[in-house]
Amino acid sequence: MALEGQCACGAVRYRLKTGPMFVHCCHCKDCQRQTGGAFAINALIETDRIEILRGEPLPTRMPTDSGRVHDVYRCPDCATALWSDYGGRPAMRFVRVATLDDPAVLPPDVHIFARSKLPWVGLPPDAQVFEVYYDMARLWPAESLARRRAILRDG
Ligand SMILES: [Zn+2]
Ligand SMILES: [Zn+2]
Repeated sequence: MALEGQCACGAVRYRLKTGPMFVHCCHCKDCQRQTGGAFAINALIETDRIEILRGEPLPTRMPTDSGRVHDVYRCPDCATALWSDYGGRPAMRFVRVATLDDPAVLPPDVHIFARSKLPWVGLPPDAQVFEVYYDMARLWPAESLARRRAILRDG
């Protein structure tokens, strides 16, 4: 599958070298406010599996309720958000799936923070939906858990 994407103006273009570890559709209030939309779709992937083909995204530090670091990397020209570092973990990125040329190739594995899902957003009957968060050890494929362990020390 072609996993290339870019910002709105095209100054930044990137390619994912492999598929992601897991895909979140996040309905939390932060994602709604930061995108101006109903949710954000994030592909969790190792930073070194993102190949930047053009341009250089720059971080913007976002306020968070949790106090954990959230840096959003944006195109320096058009400010489109391309990916995030959540929690100060530079080895892992949360790539905004809707910046891919074909976002349909990475459907969400889970819907999280459904407690603030907008009431008119309907989800497929087979979707895995969680009011807040989920048990990573149970839902992630073994291969993805191993990939995550290889880059993070927190388990
Ligand atoms: Zn741009
Ligand atoms: Zn969110």
